[in-house]
Amino acid sequence: MAQVVFLFFQKMEPTTITETSTMPFATPITDTTGTTTLNHRRINSSCDNNNEDKTAISKQTDTDEFVPQIRWPDTIVQLFLHLGLVYGLFLCLVSAKFYTTLFAFLTIYITGFGITAGAHRLWSHRAYKAKWPLRLILVILFTVTGQRHVYAWALDHRVHHKYSETDADPHNAKRGFFFSHVGWLILTPHPKVVEKRKAVDMSDLEADPIVMWQKKLYPPLFAIFNIILPVGIPVYYWNETLWNSFWINFVARFTITLNIAFFVNSVAHMWGQKPYDRNISPVENLAVSLAALGEGWHNYHHVFPWDYKTGELGNAYNPSTAFIDFFARLGWAYDLKSVSKGMIARRAKKCGDGSHPQIWGYGDEDIGKEDQEELDKMAAEEKEAMF
Ligand SMILES: [Zn+2]
Ligand SMILES: [Zn+2]
Repeated sequence: MAQVVFLFFQKMEPTTITETSTMPFATPITDTTGTTTLNHRRINSSCDNNNEDKTAISKQTDTDEFVPQIRWPDTIVQLFLHLGLVYGLFLCLVSAKFYTTLFAFLTIYITGFGITAGAHRLWSHRAYKAKWPLRLILVILFTVTGQRHVYAWALDHRVHHKYSETDADPHNAKRGFFFSHVGWLILTPHPKVVEKRKAVDMSDLEADPIVMWQKKLYPPLFAIFNIILPVGIPVYYWNETLWNSFWINFVARFTITLNIAFFVNSVAHMWGQKPYDRNISPVENLAVSLAALGEGWHNYHHVFPWDYKTGELGNAYNPSTAFIDFFARLGWAYDLKSVSKGMIARRAKKCGDGSHPQIWGYGDEDIGKEDQEELDKMAAEEKEAMF
């Protein structure tokens, strides 16, 4: 079985990178608090990003006659994992030890940081920098989740952001819930996806020895960290049966983590509010944020992808931000990129759907010019009277 799983993930390997990047990374500006903000070209553009390449692909979509083929080995793997998830949950209820279920839950929670703080915010978006001990921790946590190697994950994620909702988006949400959730992993990719994967600049990841080490040794690392250790620990430490541990701590745990990540691509592109850009499909979704350690603030994230918080409200349910902040205090995470309140307010006013939180009181926009002038005058008179 492990061999089939390896085949499944190895097939997702990107092809050789040959072209120069067109990724819209921005220029950092350090403010007085030491936090870095970014002067991104999209802020000054229209609501949608001024990505001519993306616009050209969108126009071609209607005339495209691509018919995807089912990749049967990958389909069989997904069927096995999802049916195995049901059986694993059944075993949790009828025969597994309590610690085995607790261990699976904690593993899902803790290793999630390898995806959110690691493959996503650090490696895909360069939203902060990390010293090697933190990068090593993140790459190991990410390997436990089994979501391919960091290089392949970040490559697809960069393509997703740049060509979001076009044929070149690997999990284009416009092709429906099932496709954006899991269908994209069992169907042959659109030729535009294959083409654009080759055009993304991955030189920053290629220069990271920890990323390249994981890429090179992915099959044995997958076997050790995603199968042997999670299955072996309950058997060794509290005498769980190998059978229970395999179905719960490999199959069910692995599949739950996969689905949590899938929710960001499906649910968080479909149901929720759009305070920052009403013209794109990503939304703000609390349920996804609860499941995915704060990654459900997806409308914000697609508008400001370089913000290490991936949400405006910081730690108001965003454990991944708390995780990065903790390591920033240790000095292992640094150069955290963020977005100013002014940028957010301007963007929400210009492009949002009106759901951006407003302060209904002093300082809000509804105070007319005349009233504001009178308020200022009153404040000045009061100040004078005090002295
Ligand atoms: Zn997205
Ligand atoms: Zn992202």
